[in-house]
Amino acid sequence: MSTVEILREEHVSLTEVSAEESFSADVTQGLITDPFASAHSVLPMDLVTRLDCLGLRWDGAELVVGAPEESWPEILKYAQENDLKIKLIAAGVHEIREAISLTRSIARSKDNSFDISVSEVGEAPISNLVQQVIERAVLERASDVHFEPYKDDLLVRVRIDGRLRLLVALPSRLSPAVSSRIKVLSQMNIVERRRPQDGQFSATVGDRHIDIRVSSVATVHGEKLVLRLHDARKQSVSLESLGMSGAQLEIFTRMIRATNGLIMVAGPTGSGKTTTLHSGIKAVSVAWKNIVTIEDPVEYVVPGITQIPIIDPNNAGFAVQLRAVLRQDPDVILVGETRDAETALISVQAALTGHLVFSSIHATDSVGAVYRLLQMDIESHLIASSLRGVISQRLIRRNCRFCATSYKPTAAEQKTLALYGFKATSLVRGVGCTLCSGTGFRDRIATYQVLEMTEGLSDLIVSHPEPNEFRRYAAESGMTTLDHEAVRLASEGITTLDEALTLMVSSE
Ligand SMILES: [Zn+2]
Repeated sequence: MSTVEILREEHVSLTEVSAEESFSADVTQGLITDPFASAHSVLPMDLVTRLDCLGLRWDGAELVVGAPEESWPEILKYAQENDLKIKLIAAGVHEIREAISLTRSIARSKDNSFDISVSEVGEAPISNLVQQVIERAVLERASDVHFEPYKDDLLVRVRIDGRLRLLVALPSRLSPAVSSRIKVLSQMNIVERRRPQDGQFSATVGDRHIDIRVSSVATVHGEKLVLRLHDARKQSVSLESLGMSGAQLEIFTRMIRATNGLIMVAGPTGSGKTTTLHSGIKAVSVAWKNIVTIEDPVEYVVPGITQIPIIDPNNAGFAVQLRAVLRQDPDVILVGETRDAETALISVQAALTGHLVFSSIHATDSVGAVYRLLQMDIESHLIASSLRGVISQRLIRRNCRFCATSYKPTAAEQKTLALYGFKATSLVRGVGCTLCSGTGFRDRIATYQVLEMTEGLSDLIVSHPEPNEFRRYAAESGMTTLDHEAVRLASEGITTLDEALTLMVSSE
């Protein structure tokens, strides 16, 4: 049976299929239906498109409206004329336009225009479906899209702010056609279904250009494809908006002001290390310096600096590129990742010969990163004389600013805060709105542990202490833990206390 014939039997829409059999209710909530549909319908459509405003939440009495400030006078006038009680929240034009597209996309899927029905001929229905899934994922701010084949379903899940959520469950019979379509797009071999493959393609959604890296593996129920979405528009952020405490920021600034030395950023994959490294690079970027980065892949494209992507990791990996860069008169070097002893050693030598070197390393905490270098056979006196400091980090979800509401902390919450040495008369949580798909969270923020290699710590490392002794000494010199910093963010209303405490479990 050919692909086309398979398609002709199908009639699927995003809303028809229930996935509750495979997933618990909380996973299915929020994405497929729009719990805030009534909020969007309070304002007339011409007002919405003319003024870039959107109803975010409507309880029958008060309407919460997101809009750029220049639209406020007209919206207030409309509210007065129509005897409507509204609360305005400042939002960017882009943010609102994307949210409007998203609500339209959700509404369309309700009207069954996501149908891949019998009336269409050829591969168009499947390519439409794939395109709409990608569009929807981009509008939902997803970082990854998973196509997961199971016995009865092909589940499509999207990762938003670090968590996977179900977008749609398709019948498993569609699986081969969907994976073939994606493999064609990403120039993979469509006949090969057993060996893992990777490829890439790009997509344009609205005014956004998205690079998509695709990988496939064969599972018992067919090929599973994961798409990683990279937004080429992504901008590096300033040091101040990273999420560090005042004291941490001061130390980090001191580290990067040096003209030489090694600065390490530690954390698991997807913990925002690249963002931190690029903020550092941005802060030291001046016209008279030669700044070179070696990255896999290049996520932020920065004008004025030389960026080298790793294209052939086997023959021209980090170590090979780093050696070449050192022959090109660099001032500041960013080595995307220190994966092996050779790269580590060249980085240390570069740091000792008058270069400022930034790099990332896999380690659970800052002290762990120092010991990772020792495991890579870097001599302790070299670490002591080259390393300026290590920053380790995790990402936590931040409260959605469009529906954030403050409340009085419970006795248990006050106790938790006190345990970490904080106090708050009010805490903040998101109550859910259109812009956060009802989750109460929108975007993420990093929580940091900053280890500065003071003279005392440099002396200590040479004597090869046990990691916990080193940790204790660093804590005495003022180094705080990741969960301590997360609780601080909660006490400042940036995230919830529950979200902060997830780090206690996940960081170990
Ligand atoms: Zn919200």
